[in-house]
Amino acid sequence: MKHILFNKPLLTGKENEYIKLAVESGKISGDGIYTKKCHTFFEEKYGFKKALLTTSCTDALEMTAILCNILPGDEVIAPSFTFVSTVNAFILRGAKIVFIDSRSDNPNMDETQIEPLITPRTKAIIAVHYAGIACDMGPIMEIAKKHNLLLVEDAAQAIDSYYNGLPLGSLGHFGAFSFHETKNVISGEGGMITINHPEYITRAEIIREKGTNRSAFFRGEVDKYGWVDIGSSFLPSEVIAAFLYAQLENLEMIQKRRKHIWDIYFHELALLREKRGIQLPFIPAYATNNAHMFYVVCNSLQERSALIEHLKQNSIESVFHYLSLHKSSFYKNKHDGRELPQSDRYTDCLLRLAFFYELEDVDVMTVTSKIKEFYKI
Ligand SMILES: *Cc1c(COP(=O)(O)O)cnc(C)c1O
Repeated sequence: MKHILFNKPLLTGKENEYIKLAVESGKISGDGIYTKKCHTFFEEKYGFKKALLTTSCTDALEMTAILCNILPGDEVIAPSFTFVSTVNAFILRGAKIVFIDSRSDNPNMDETQIEPLITPRTKAIIAVHYAGIACDMGPIMEIAKKHNLLLVEDAAQAIDSYYNGLPLGSLGHFGAFSFHETKNVISGEGGMITINHPEYITRAEIIREKGTNRSAFFRGEVDKYGWVDIGSSFLPSEVIAAFLYAQLENLEMIQKRRKHIWDIYFHELALLREKRGIQLPFIPAYATNNAHMFYVVCNSLQERSALIEHLKQNSIESVFHYLSLHKSSFYKNKHDGRELPQSDRYTDCLLRLAFFYELEDVDVMTVTSKIKEFYKI
C-alpha cells in the first residue's frame, strides 16, 4: 500500500543555484539582491505599497502589533479559530483579545458579530483569511473606518488570492504572509509584512532593523544611523530570500497544479455534502480560491476520529487543527465567557486532507475513494 503523505515541501529546481549565488555574492545577511527581488516581485504583482520579508509570518504579525501601537489593556478583535501567532503577537504588547466566532459556511470570522464588541479600548481588528479564502472585507473595512480602528490581515495562507479583485494583504493597514513549508510558496521558515498606508513605511523599516534607521542610512537619506525606536531583528538572510525567489518564479505553475488537485477533491467529494451532510469548502462570490488547502467538516468529533483512523488504516495521513483559542489553557481564564459554537465545531469536526504540489491525481483519487468508502457512498 502506497503511503500518502499530508505535506511534502516542493523544490522547484533553482533553489540551490540561487542560494549558491547569494552565498558567493559576499553578502549573506539580509536586504541583499534576492530580498530586493522578492520585494519588487510582490510590490509589482500585487500593488502592495511596501513589502518587507521577515523570518516568519509570526514575526510579521509582531511587527504589525508594534505598528498598531498596542498598549497594555488595549483590545484587539480576532477570530478564535486561528493559529496562535495571530493573537500572540498582540498579547506580547499587553493586548486583551476579544474573540469572534466563525461563520457557519466557512471558518472565517463572522463579520456581523464585530461591531457590538467594540469598546472605547478597541484598537485593531485582525482578519484571518482561512484556507486563503477572503473574509468579507467590505463590511470589515467599513467598521474599521467608522470606529477608527487599525485593520490587520493575517494572510499567512492567502498568497495570490483576492477579494472582489483586490489582492489579499493589500486591504488592511497591514498584511502578514507566511512562507512556512506547509504553505503554497515556501522558504522553510519565512514571512512578509505588507504596509498599505505610506505613513507607516518608515517606522516599519525601523522596527524590522532592531529599532534603528539603518535602511534609510543605506539609501543615503541620513548620514549616520542610530537607535530611534523599539524593534527586533525581523529580517531574513539572503539564503532564505534566494530560496524564496526561486519559488516565486514558479508561482503560476504552483498555483495551477494546486487548483487542479483542489478541483478533483471538490468534484469527487460533492456527493458527501448531499448524502451525508459533510461541509465542504465554500468560496463566496467576492472571494477567489488560491488552493491552499482542502478540508471536510464532519458531523461530529467521533465521526472525524473514526475517519482519521480509517484513512490511517489505508496509509493515508490527514490532519486536524486549530483548537479554539478562547478555550486554550493559556487564554480560557482571560476570555469573557461568550460561547463561540462555530469555532468549537470546526475545532472538533474539520479535517484537512493531503495537499501538496507533487500529490498525484491517482493519490487524490485514493484519498477520496477511501473517504467515500468510509461514508458508504
Ligand atoms: C502558518 C500561519 C501562521 C504562522 O506562520 P509562520 O510563518 O509559521 O510564523 C500564522 N497565521 C496563520 C493563519 C497561519 O496559517
